[in-house]
Parts: sequence; structure tokens; C-alpha cells
Amino acid sequence: MEIKNIFKNNQAWVADKLAKDKNYFENLSKGQTPSMLYIGCSDSRVTAEEMMGVKPGEVFVHRNIANLVNNVDLNVMSVINYGVRHLKVKHVVVCGHYFCGGVKAAMQASDLGILNPWLRGIRDVYRLHKDELNSIKDDDDRYNRLIELNVQEQCINIIKTAAVQQAYYERGLLVHGWIFDVKTGKLKDLNINFDKVLKDIIEIYDLNKQST
Ligand SMILES: [Zn+2]
Repeated sequence: MEIKNIFKNNQAWVADKLAKDKNYFENLSKGQTPSMLYIGCSDSRVTAEEMMGVKPGEVFVHRNIANLVNNVDLNVMSVINYGVRHLKVKHVVVCGHYFCGGVKAAMQASDLGILNPWLRGIRDVYRLHKDELNSIKDDDDRYNRLIELNVQEQCINIIKTAAVQQAYYERGLLVHGWIFDVKTGKLKDLNINFDKVLKDIIEIYDLNKQST
């Protein structure tokens, strides 16, 4: 990839879009009404729109290392709040991926500087599910399972927020946990039972009086 080619690519992309619809960018400039918030990994191999086959304007996107939803991360929390309360998305997706370097790093004993507090979120997931993970003998299987459990726990972190609880009760917002398999290109739905998860955690994390 050459930087100088990017502007050429952009010109070709603009021309292609306008050839199909001369008002394409004019319409895009009017505003966004995405129905989904996607929270994925920053990994360069895991695209958001491209692998889902969706167009600009359809998905509100946030990406960070290992698709974490940390409750003191103003960035992800602002994205969730804006997406749910203002854009009124119908679905929130956390999409992890196999071969995730962030999860791999969190499984190793090494000092990674500023990455330590970030990756601690994944070590916390490991601690929560230590018995299950330690019972998996194969290293790759254990790595893959931690990737799945990390997605599950980040979905739970989303469900802990007031904006999501309120949107769930008022308009049936749903949270989904998915995995992208870099080796096959396929998306897998972890089929997280939103109702059950909410019921399990609501005693402690209830932020909405409608649920009592
Ligand atoms: Zn990753």
C-alpha cells in the first residue's frame, strides 16, 4: 500500500459512486440514521462495513484493541451513549475475532507498558472464567475460547449501562456478540441470551427503575 495511491483510489471511488448515483454524497451529507452500533477490534484484518456487506451510513462504528468495553473509557462510553440515546440504534454488536493479538498478549506473562491496564480487562475475563479456561488442554482452543468469553463479557458490560437498559425496556434494543474468523472470513453469532444475561445481572447493576 502506497500513500500516494490513496488519493487516486479515493478519486476513483468518488467517480464510481457518482456514476451510480449523482446525489450519493449530497444525500450522505444530510445526516446519519444507522440501525446498528458495531464495536470491534482495531486489527487491520477485521473490517467493519466490508465483511458485513453494509454501506456508509448504515453502521455506527467503534474499534479499539481487543474490542473492550471499559466503563471508565470515555471514548467507548460516549459512543454507546450517543449511538443508543441519540442515534437510537436498534442493535449493539460486539465483534471479536479469532487470532486476536490483544487477547494473545493478555495470555502471556510480560510487561507491555501502557498496554498493561488496557489488557487487564482481558485478564479479568480470564479470572472470571478461570476454571473453564484452565480445563481446556489445547492452547489454541483455550485462546479461541477466551476470545469468545471476552466478547460475552463486553456484551455484559454494555448491558450494565443505563442507556442500554432504558432502551431495552422502552424500545427493545438488543445486544449481540459475534466472532469473525480471520482464517475463513466467516462471522459467527455467539447467540448471547440478552434476556437471561439482563436477568442475571440486574440485581446488582439495575440503573432503571422500570426493571424493578
Ligand atoms: Zn484483535
